[in-house]
Parts: sequence; structure tokens; C-alpha cells
Amino acid sequence: MLTLFHSSLATVLLATALPDTVVREAYVMGTVLRIKVEAASDVEAFRSAEAVLAEVERLDGLLSTWDPASEMSRLNRATPGTPTAMNAEVAALLFEVEEWTRETGRAFDPAVGALVDAWDLRGAGRIPGPDELDAVSRATGSRGMAIDRRDTTSTRQDARAWIDTGAFGKGAALRSARRILAGSGASRAFLDLGGQALVWSRGVSAPTPRSVWVAHPDQRSTATIRLDLDGVSVATSGTSERFVDVGGRRLGHILDPRTGFPAPAWGSVTVVHADPMVADVLATALYVMGPVEGLAWAEKRGTAALFLLETAGDIEPSWTTSMEAWLGPATIPSTQWQ
Ligand code: AMP
Ligand code: MG
Repeated sequence: MLTLFHSSLATVLLATALPDTVVREAYVMGTVLRIKVEAASDVEAFRSAEAVLAEVERLDGLLSTWDPASEMSRLNRATPGTPTAMNAEVAALLFEVEEWTRETGRAFDPAVGALVDAWDLRGAGRIPGPDELDAVSRATGSRGMAIDRRDTTSTRQDARAWIDTGAFGKGAALRSARRILAGSGASRAFLDLGGQALVWSRGVSAPTPRSVWVAHPDQRSTATIRLDLDGVSVATSGTSERFVDVGGRRLGHILDPRTGFPAPAWGSVTVVHADPMVADVLATALYVMGPVEGLAWAEKRGTAALFLLETAGDIEPSWTTSMEAWLGPATIPSTQWQ
């Protein structure tokens, strides 16, 4: 809105009463980042949006496992057996992740790179034999990659070991973006980073929460359940959209580190959490646990989680008590993101 440049009193009042909005889209972290920012002026809104994009790009530069120049790629390439000093920010994230690995009984463990390779999940897919699977499983987790908290080093214990940031990188980037928004001139923002969203507003809750639709696990363009959100992030994990077909077997991109096998395709899980990184971590962890173990785990810990279980041609939703605060009317709408 450029109404500030008009001279009539009525327009000036309108311009000061209503925030200006900037919408920005960019390709980053291997996906699309959509930014919508409101601020007192269009210049402020534009600045905030650019700062958010720069921050997500910075996190990608630290965490990408696709970019050979990233800090994470450097650690993943280190000579096995040699402790390698870690960038402090990446180290802090890996320490945090390690705690989630423990908390989730290893349903969440990004040190599964050797298994990603064994199943060729980044290529055409293949089925490893039991002996290979056994050997490769020993190159995952802390047996594959040892993180030392005292001297902030990581040591690859095996030439096949590497850390896959795919399950927490977007959440970590949205968390950093939230910090940038807090220090900017923005009053409200909505970020969508490849399906994980952040609904942010300054100070007290916005008078109108933002509606975010949870997609059907199998059809991304079909919305199912409405969430009315403010001051939180929402992350969804599922395998229906990302898989490889090998000899009629469908291998999803989420692995169960406890078994070494890809987690079965059963539907999707959506987590709402104030901390975007926790939302990302727990959506993946609960997907691995599945709708029964996952629901019990999330309920016990007060995690807001929604499970969509695919049954013959239908979906069966279930959710934890703390999810109820965010659930809108459970109608099936005709459009997805509103
Ligand atoms: P998400 O889409 O957030 O559920 O993350 C899935 C991505 O995380 C996969 O594409 C892998 O890169 C990686 N990953 C797979 N299985 C796990 C797991 N059990 N724990 C942590 N990361 C995983
Ligand atoms: Mg995740």
C-alpha cells in the first residue's frame, strides 16, 4: 500500500490505522518459502521479509546436506576417527537433537545417513540384505557419529556415518526466523517453509488467529481439518508424498532408527508447538512411533498432536487433549491454504 504518499487526510488516517503487508516467495532449503509480513509501513514490512529470507538462507548454509559447502556437509565428510571442531550454533542444535533422540527412545535420530544410503532413499531406492542392514545399523546413531559436548567436536566413527538434518532443519530455520521477526519492525507474520508454518504476532495474541488447513495425508491439495493458530508453528510428517518404489514395495523417506527399516505409510501426524524446531522434531518422531504409540507418548507429555490414519478410502483422525485448543470446525473445505 502506497497510500501514505497521498495527501488527503482520510487516506493518511487509513494508512496509519492499517498495517502494510508484504508477500514474498523464494526457493530455499530445497523448497518454497512463503513469507507474509505486516508492519506499520511497507518499507518496514519489506525489510522484515528480506531479513527473514536472509536468515533462512543462513541456516541452510549451516545445515544443508545437499550443499557440499555447508558446515553440516563438512562435518559429515570428516575423516573417520578424527574429532572435528563444530561451529557453535550447529553444535548447540546437535546437542538439543541428541536430547530428543533420548526422549523419544530413538524414534527420532538424524544420525541415520548410513541407512538413507543403504535404502538409496535419495536415489531410485533399493532393498538392502539383512547382513548389510545389520552392518549399516551399527554406523547410525552415536555409534556412527559421536558428539562431544565438552570440546564441541564431532567424530565420525564409521566411513558410512552422516547426520541427516531433514527432520529438524526447517524447524531450526523457522525458529531463527522468529527471532529475526521479534527484532524487526513486523507486527504479524505468516511463514510457510515447505509445509511447516509459523504464525507469529508481536505481543499479545492477534485478535483473529490464522486458519491453517491440515492436508489429506495422500493428497496435498485436499484440506481436511482446520487449525486456528497464533504464536505457534505447525509441522506435519508423513510419507505418502515422498517415497521411492522398488519392485512394488513403497519405501517412505522416514526411517525407523530402532529397526533400520523405513517407517510404514499409515497417514500423517501434525504437531503444534510454540517452538518451531520442537514441532518439526516431534512430527517426525511421532510418525515413526505411529498412531497408537505416538498418541500415548504425546498425550503423556502434553504435546499438541493430530494423527490422520488412512483407512480404506477414508481417514480417521485422532488427537491429544492439548490439540483441542487449536482445532477449528472439522469440516472438509474446497481449498487448502486459506
Ligand atoms: P520430516 O519431513 O520432518 O518428517 O523429516 C524427514 C526427513 O528426516 C527424511 O527425509 C530424512 O532426511 C530424515 N529422517 C528420516 N528418518 C528420520 C528419523 N527417524 N529421525 C530423524 N530424521 C529422520
Ligand atoms: Mg520433522
